[in-house]
Amino acid sequence: MRLLTIALGLLVSSASFAMSSASYLPADADLDTSIPSPESQLGWEPGDWRIHHPALVQYLQTLAEKSDRVSIKETGRTYEQRPLLQVIISSEENQAKLESLRESHLKGAASGDLKAPLVVWLGYSVHGDEASGSNAAPIVAWYLAASRSEYVKELLKNTIIIIDPSLNPDGLDRFSSWSNSNQSLTSVGDRNGRIHNQDWPPGRTNHYLFDLNRDWLPLVHPESRARITEFHRWLPHVITDHHETGHDGYFFQPGVPTRQHPLTTPENLEMTRALATYHAKSLDSAGVMFFSEDTYDDFYYGKGSTYPDINGSIGILFEQPRINGLVYNRVSGPLTFSEAIHNHVRTSLSTLEGAYELSAELKKYQTGFFQTTQQRAARAGFQAWVIGDGNDSARAGELMDIFNRHQVEYHALSSEITSGGQVFKPGHAWVIPVKQRQFGLAQAMIETRTTFADNTFYDVSAWSLPMAYNLPYAKLSRLPATTDNSPPPTAHAPEQNAVAWVIPWQQMHAPSVLQDLLDAGVRVRAATKPFSMGGVAFSEGSLVVLAGIQDENRSGDILEVLQQAATRGVSVHSYNTHQTGSGPGLGTSHFKIVPAIKPLLIVGDGVRSYDAGEAWHQMDQRLGVPPVMTSMTRLKNINLNDYTHLLMVNGRYAGIGKKLRQDIAAWVGDGGILIATQDAATWAESLCFESGGCDKKPVEENTMEDESGIMAYADFDDQKAQRTIGGAIVSALVDSTHPVAFGYNKEMPLFRRGTTLLQASENPFASPVRYTEDPLVSGYIGEQRLTEMSNQPAVIAERHGKGLVVRFANNPLFRGFWRGTERLWVNSIYFGPLIGTTELPQ
Ligand SMILES: [Zn+2]
Repeated sequence: MRLLTIALGLLVSSASFAMSSASYLPADADLDTSIPSPESQLGWEPGDWRIHHPALVQYLQTLAEKSDRVSIKETGRTYEQRPLLQVIISSEENQAKLESLRESHLKGAASGDLKAPLVVWLGYSVHGDEASGSNAAPIVAWYLAASRSEYVKELLKNTIIIIDPSLNPDGLDRFSSWSNSNQSLTSVGDRNGRIHNQDWPPGRTNHYLFDLNRDWLPLVHPESRARITEFHRWLPHVITDHHETGHDGYFFQPGVPTRQHPLTTPENLEMTRALATYHAKSLDSAGVMFFSEDTYDDFYYGKGSTYPDINGSIGILFEQPRINGLVYNRVSGPLTFSEAIHNHVRTSLSTLEGAYELSAELKKYQTGFFQTTQQRAARAGFQAWVIGDGNDSARAGELMDIFNRHQVEYHALSSEITSGGQVFKPGHAWVIPVKQRQFGLAQAMIETRTTFADNTFYDVSAWSLPMAYNLPYAKLSRLPATTDNSPPPTAHAPEQNAVAWVIPWQQMHAPSVLQDLLDAGVRVRAATKPFSMGGVAFSEGSLVVLAGIQDENRSGDILEVLQQAATRGVSVHSYNTHQTGSGPGLGTSHFKIVPAIKPLLIVGDGVRSYDAGEAWHQMDQRLGVPPVMTSMTRLKNINLNDYTHLLMVNGRYAGIGKKLRQDIAAWVGDGGILIATQDAATWAESLCFESGGCDKKPVEENTMEDESGIMAYADFDDQKAQRTIGGAIVSALVDSTHPVAFGYNKEMPLFRRGTTLLQASENPFASPVRYTEDPLVSGYIGEQRLTEMSNQPAVIAERHGKGLVVRFANNPLFRGFWRGTERLWVNSIYFGPLIGTTELPQ
C-alpha cells in the first residue's frame, strides 16, 4: 500500500524542486526507516504542495502511533472545528512520566533546581499564509522521532520538545487551497502571477479574519485561549514563532535592541543573542542570507515571540522570505518553497541545539526572571491595583477571566475604599496584589506609559486592558481587605406576571438580549431620558418591555428570552405598574420603539479585512445577528431598501461610482443608517444630501501640514513615526445624553490608530464623543498629530432626511478586545433610529 502511494505521488506531483524529508535533515541523522516519513503518508515530498491541515493531523497522529518518543493531544478547536494539536517529543522514558516531569519543571523554575528537563516549544505558521513553517513541522517531528544519532538520543533524554504544528489551522487551510489550486505543473516565479497575490481575505488570519499573532494578550479567540493554557502548563524555556516576511533575507531575533519593551529584562536579550549564534552558524553553513537586530521589535506583548518574554521564557521570532508558490522571483534571486521549508527546519534544529547546550543558563535565567520580578515588585512603590466593575459585572468578569487565564492572581475586595477620587465597593471590585509571581505580566497588562526610548513601533504602543474594558482602576499604596469567598453577583430574574420589565443598558450582554427580543418579535422601547422605579435608577438606553403592547399569545416567548437573559447574568427588573418614581413615565414618548435590524456589511477587495472581521465577529458572536456580507462590486446590484444599515469599516471606497454614491445618499434620506469608520467616514463626507446636488469628491487621507523644509535623509524613520499613529490610547469627553453614547460616563478612553480627522458637523448636537484638550493617555503620538486632534470630534452622528450617517474617526471594535468602546458602535446600530432631528429654529 505504501509503495503504491509513493508511485501515485510521483505521477501526480508537479515536483520540480522536490526533496525527500531526509534531505532536509543533518547527514548524521541515521533515520530509522520503520518510522514513517512525511512523504510515505502524504504521497508527495515536502515542498511539492502546501500541506492541508487534515493531512498534517493525520501524519502526526501516525507518528505518535508508530513512535514511543511521540505523544499527541488535542488542546482545543478552531471556529471551523479543526483540532489544535500539541505534539510532545521526548525519550520513551520521559514519555512514561510526562506529568511528573512537568510538575518538577514548574517547581524547578520557582526553586532554582536545575534537574528537571529543558522544555522547548516550536510553534509554526500563526499566519496561515506563511506556510513554510507548518510544512517544516512534520519534517522536524519525523527527525526527532526517527533519528538514532547519539545527539538526538541525548537531546530527548534531557529535553521535552513541544511542537505546535499549526497555530492557525483555519488560515492554513484557506491558504493551502489557494496556493495548491493556483499551482501550475511547471512553477511560475513571476511576481505578477495569481498564485503570489491572494484574493481577499488572505490566509494570514483566523476564521473571523483576526491576526492571532496579536491575540496572545487579549485572548479573544479559542486558538489563543487553548494555547495560553498550555503555555502556562509547560512554561517553556524557549519558544519559537516561525513566520514569512516580505524582506529578502531570513530574520531571527533579537530585534532592534532599543525597541525591546522596558519590562523585558536585559538578560532576556543576552539569552536571545546567545541562541542567535546557533542560528547564524546553521544558516551560514548553508549559505543562506540572513539578518538580525533590525526591523522587528519585541514591544507588544500580544505577539507570540514577545508574550514569552514577560513570562520567564525566551520567545524567538523567525521570518523566512515570503513564498506563496513553489518558486518566487525575489529581488535577490529566485527562492523555492523547499528552501523556505529547509530554513525553518534549520532554525528549529539550531534552536534545539542552542537550547540544549545552553540548558543550564536557560534554567537559571527562568528562575532568575521570577526573582527579578519579585525584586521589582518590592520596589514598585505601591501594594496593589484595584479594578472596579463600572456597574457592569459581566464586562469586569470577562476582564478578570483574562487575568485568570494569564495566571495573574486577584482577590475580591471586602471593604469599601476610595482611591484617586474613585470609590470601590465590595462585590464590585477586585484587587491584584503586587506581591505575586505574575507581577511582571500584570504590570504589562495594566500600566500606561508615554515616554519611550525609541518612537518606532512594529505594532501598537499601548494596550492597557482596564482601559480597553473602560473600567475604573487605581493603584493602592496599602493592600486592602480581600476575600476569596465572595459569591458571584446574581442577576435579577424576571417575574412572570409583570406589567413592565426593565433591562439596564450598561450591562455588557444587554444588546444581545435586545437582539433576542427583536428576533422573537417583541416590541422593545428604549429610554431616552433617565428614570427610576422602585428605588432603582435607570440610565438612558435602558430597555423596557411592556406586556400590554405585545401581540397576543407572545407572553411565553417574552418570558423565555428574559429568563435566558437572567441565566446569562443579565438583570431584568420586573414591575406591576407603568408609573415611574422619577423621570418620565413608561407610557411617554421619551421611550422609543427599537426597530428590528437587517444590516449589510461591505467586505472584499478594498475593505481592510481585519476591520471587516471585527465587525463580523462583533455581530455574529456577540450580538447574535450575522450581517449580510457583500462586496463593493455587488453593491450596485443590491436593493439597499431591503436593509436597515450599511456598515462600512476602514477601507478604500473611492471605487464606488457617482451613481452608487447618489443611491446611498438617497437611501439614507429615506431612513437608511450608514455607519462608517476611519477612511470610510472620510469617504462618507463626500456624499451629497442636497436635492440640488453638490460637487464633492472622496478624499482619501489626512495629510499633515509640513513646514519642516529640508531634513536629514537619516531622520526619515523618526519623521515617519511622528506622522503615523500606530496605536495609542487617548481620552475623550462623552455626551451621554446622545443615543450613540447611552450608558457611558462623561469621560472614556478610546483607541486611536491612523490619523483620520472628521469634518466637523454644522449641527452642534451631533458630536457625542470628542477628544479632550490634551488627549494622550498611553502610547506614542507625534506632537503635531496630537495637537491637531485636540478637542476634535471622534464620533459624529448626523441626521439626513429620515436617515442617519454615523462617522467614527477610530475603530471602536479594535481587535475585539476594546469592550469599552464597542458599545458606541452597538448604540449606533440599535439606537441610530431613535436619534431625533436637532435643528434649531432660525
Ligand atoms: Zn507572520
